[in-house]
Amino acid sequence: MLYYCIFERMNSADTATVKILLSQPQKIVVIPHKNPDGDAMGSCLGLAHFLHQLGQKVSIIAPNDYPKFLKWLPGDDKVINFERENGQAKRALEEATVIFTLDFNHFSRTGQLEPFLAKSGATFIMIDHHQQPDTYAQVTYSDTSMSSTCEMIYHFMDALESTDKINKDIATCLYTGIMTDTGSFKYPSTTSKTHQIVAHLIDKGAQHTEIHQAVFDNNSPGRLHLLGVALRNLTIIEEYGTAYTTLSQEELDRYKYSKGDTEGFVNYGLTLEGIHFAVIFIENKEEGIIKISFRSVGDFSVNEFARNHFNGGGHTNAAGGRSDTDMKTTTQRFESILKEYKKQLTC
Ligand code: 5GP
Ligand code: MN
Repeated sequence: MLYYCIFERMNSADTATVKILLSQPQKIVVIPHKNPDGDAMGSCLGLAHFLHQLGQKVSIIAPNDYPKFLKWLPGDDKVINFERENGQAKRALEEATVIFTLDFNHFSRTGQLEPFLAKSGATFIMIDHHQQPDTYAQVTYSDTSMSSTCEMIYHFMDALESTDKINKDIATCLYTGIMTDTGSFKYPSTTSKTHQIVAHLIDKGAQHTEIHQAVFDNNSPGRLHLLGVALRNLTIIEEYGTAYTTLSQEELDRYKYSKGDTEGFVNYGLTLEGIHFAVIFIENKEEGIIKISFRSVGDFSVNEFARNHFNGGGHTNAAGGRSDTDMKTTTQRFESILKEYKKQLTC
């Protein structure tokens, strides 16, 4: 019975608020961040399955599309894509009495959804593990020590004394998000509690081998070729323990890029001996931006780096950002900024 012990819960005032809200029929909308990843989709779908079991009406609205390697998740067919099914999404938002925002903590992370959230009269519940949460929610369950939002959804259900409601669908969704956000259980945010929760999810029906294969073993030839390009484009700056790479729109087009194809590429830089800061710059001509992913090992905060210089944020060791100038100007600016961090990057 080791893993049925009480975990770190939401505080009791927030728990009481949620219990009262969910004791009444609500029209609930659940929202992940733009460009949702495994944790964002896993937490939204896992929570939606749970709320359904409580008899609630639930819609999930994704700000935009997400990768094919997540499109097998139980309940995926019910997800409303705000860009594609705009009318349906707006109606659900207008009618919503409760809105859960999962795996992000600032409306700006939802792209075109932002103004609709800002004007909504619904009660907001934020469940998230990123740094610097905003204050828009009536219930803010924010814990930056958590491995993933999916792990927090487990704690949320635990606070409501409802982990007995976890079925195979919920277990599958939450397992997926914990697996992807922990780098398959290897990042430092993975604790013994994470493993206990995962054990419980497996007991409830999560098929770990199949989930891993569904997410990671669906490469297209184009994706592997793109990885080849990203590895060839690698620039190593030994002096600063830094490696960065680039993918231009032309390179993406050449290998028929589809959403999610570049997932994980940034991590290759970190596998080099002596490298503790890795970055990938990916051109997006349609949006007129360079999308940037930052990763680090150790104390160097890529959250701070992304916030201070590239209009982004995230966690200490994984963050994202953007640049509005072209690739060459962006990487040159990046290299010159590195100098400011010489002390932190060389110790
Ligand atoms: P990725 O590099 O995989 O897009 O994102 C890494 C982490 O940083 C994720 O937790 C993601 O939610 C967060 N993140 C990515 N882009 C941004 C951004 O533009 N702003 C903020 N605040 N966080 C971001
Ligand atoms: Mn996450």
